Amino acid sequence: LVLVRSGREHVDDSEAEIRREVRRMLEACGIDEPPTPLDRLLEYRRLTSEQRTEITPGVLGRVSRFFKRMGSKIRGLLDTEARLIVVDPFLHPSRQIFLRHHEVAHDVLPWHRDALVYTSEWDLLPSVRTAFEAEANRFAGHAIFQVDHMAHAYRGRRLKITELAGVAAQYGASLSATARQYILIQDIPAALVIGRPAGQLGSREIVLRLALANDAFVRRFGTTIFGSHFETNHPLTAVVNTPSLTLLDMEMTVTDANGAAIQVITDTVFTGYETLTLVHPVRTRGRILARIKSTRTRLLRG
Ligand SMILES: [Zn+2]
Repeated sequence: LVLVRSGREHVDDSEAEIRREVRRMLEACGIDEPPTPLDRLLEYRRLTSEQRTEITPGVLGRVSRFFKRMGSKIRGLLDTEARLIVVDPFLHPSRQIFLRHHEVAHDVLPWHRDALVYTSEWDLLPSVRTAFEAEANRFAGHAIFQVDHMAHAYRGRRLKITELAGVAAQYGASLSATARQYILIQDIPAALVIGRPAGQLGSREIVLRLALANDAFVRRFGTTIFGSHFETNHPLTAVVNTPSLTLLDMEMTVTDANGAAIQVITDTVFTGYETLTLVHPVRTRGRILARIKSTRTRLLRG
């Protein structure tokens, strides 16, 4: 499984601008501590979401035609004309909140807004749509975690997945969105691996679907540390095979791109739907000694 660097998902060029737009929006709404009240953002953009308004038959017709055309691919939409956001009501509530922030992004980011006045998101060129989607997701993350708010609080601190659950509650976000943002703001080496169970209960394996890592992680360990799945006899699969077990801490040895063995701590939660695994390297004695040595050398030189 190749790690995707979290900061490099198609948003390299626009990251600074996205942050600027989120900051401007939060400031205009007078929001300076979590959780971000979505209602206030919607008001600010003169948008409504379907939960707050009765949908007129005209809008409903447009929406249902849209959903029909898009099949199951679509989870949320922004109608710039009707000033309406609609998201799939069958999704988990915190996923719905994330999607509403995502749709707000399409309305706030000037280059999205301009493009979407003339065409629906789904009629854009695939490459443009991929970029727009990544940008809107990034915007949503920054809006929910209030740009540097989470970084100031947690950068440099190695969090466990149970602690991330507390952070998620603080920001009113899903655990998955929180874990992604944690990788984005973290400067000590950290990676997140997302998987899904496959097979029969009791002998399930975990098929890995997505991996995010920060630059510090990629610099030290390259972009490949796990294979594409954990086979059913792998100790980590206990989390999807033991009904009473939803959390699992493990230390394991993996091989980096150069074939060197690395000790990592994995911290896994199974949500009943997917597995989220935080990966941090173990601070080995050797490395700490090396650091002490180099500090001493510097001190002596100084
Ligand atoms: Zn979108």
